Amino acid sequence: MFAEKTQTLPGFDFYHYDDQLTDSQRAVQQQVREWVQRVVVPNINPYWDRAEFPRDIAMQMRELPIIGGMLPTEYGGAGLDATTMGLVIYELAKGDGSIGTFYGVHSGLAMSSIALLGSEEQKARWLPAMSRLEKIGAFGLTEPERGSAAVDVQTRAHRDGNAYILNGRKHWIGNASLAGVLIIWARDDDGKFGGFVIEDPNEVEGVTIEIMEGKIGKRSVMNARIELNNVRVPAENRLAYVSSFKDTAMVLGAGRYGVSWEAAGVATAAYEYALDFATKREQFGKPIASFQLIQQKLVEMATEVTLMRGMCFQLAKLMEQGQLNEGILSMAKYNNARKARYVTQLARETLGGVGLLIENHIARLMMDAEVIYTYEGTNEINMLLVGRTLTGINAIT
Ligand SMILES: Cc1cc2nc3c(=O)[nH]c(=O)nc-3n(C[C@H](O)[C@H](O)[C@H](O)COP(=O)(O)OP(=O)(O)OC[C@H]3O[C@@H](n4cnc5c(N)ncnc54)[C@H](O)[C@@H]3O)c2cc1C
Repeated sequence: MFAEKTQTLPGFDFYHYDDQLTDSQRAVQQQVREWVQRVVVPNINPYWDRAEFPRDIAMQMRELPIIGGMLPTEYGGAGLDATTMGLVIYELAKGDGSIGTFYGVHSGLAMSSIALLGSEEQKARWLPAMSRLEKIGAFGLTEPERGSAAVDVQTRAHRDGNAYILNGRKHWIGNASLAGVLIIWARDDDGKFGGFVIEDPNEVEGVTIEIMEGKIGKRSVMNARIELNNVRVPAENRLAYVSSFKDTAMVLGAGRYGVSWEAAGVATAAYEYALDFATKREQFGKPIASFQLIQQKLVEMATEVTLMRGMCFQLAKLMEQGQLNEGILSMAKYNNARKARYVTQLARETLGGVGLLIENHIARLMMDAEVIYTYEGTNEINMLLVGRTLTGINAIT
């Protein structure tokens, strides 16, 4: 079903960051890049246009050594180191933001919640099928009335014998409509925060999952509204090691690591398309790349993506050395999300009118950057998390 045409873009690496990669890191990077260029890029635009999930493309990810990311292989992870994890997310994002988010929600948020916060029995129960993409994971935190203030979720889990009864509403939940493992974050009778796994939620009584229509970014990953009306969840499905919102925040922190790389990937792809176009498109009898104002845009984009990638590689080092903290992670997310928006817009401008056509990819990347700007903590919230780390003063609440 996939078009034969293969589009190969060289990986922009002006500062030779890739020279420091080990052979195994490079091998995974190349494998993902090749797959993205062969399978994702030539086929994704119609799905994005129709706001349709590219199931066949997404399921092919099984063939790559990436599902479960950094989680150890005994738990169904891919055992990737921090740098390789970042490179995988970067390469997926260069292809398409929706594919990247499908992977990030399933492999990152959902699998990591279980791996980091679940008991041995829970890990053994859910992770192997998730690592084979037989069960898709979703992470249900955000609510219609509690977005940035998710610490104060309104969804309740009332204990009833050997089960919890869940009531509440969630929205924006990625992958929920196809999920086999849906984690719902809620507070129990004592006000304690918890993660409750609903298995095969589309078949569970009291669960209503409705795809959110009309989304203008990441159109080919499905986000859903969820209503929970007296949903019975076995007590054994409560994640064993969640004692407060801080535990969930730890998973979100790891998510911000991924989103920083994702933003760099989206921006770099947009720059590469813009450079290619500028050297080929002629106006006034010469390539537009020969005009100073176009070169200014290209230099601006190239500089920003080089800085973004530098931040990501340093973030990877800090993660490997165990030196990350909330502020460090949020600074990269804050910077790269903002810059992805800027760079994709410059790239769009560089193409003139055809920059608005989906067939040239940049319009899709530009709208995907809007999502990156807002999810995994909005730009404002990430900025304030950095401020809190720098000053020791909380300006969020
Ligand atoms: C495409 C997409 C996918 C998503 N996927 C998921 C998912 O899989 N699971 C999930 O749980 N959630 C998901 N989300 C939700 C996402 O995390 C939230 O949208 C985000 O946390 C912001 O919440 P909100 O949209 O309710 O905005 P609000 O919190 O209502 O914020 C509105 C505005 O107010 C600002 N603001 C809020 N509080 C402050 C403050 N204290 N100081 C300064 N400014 C403030 C915000 O920065 C923003 O500009 C997704 C969102 C999108 C768009």
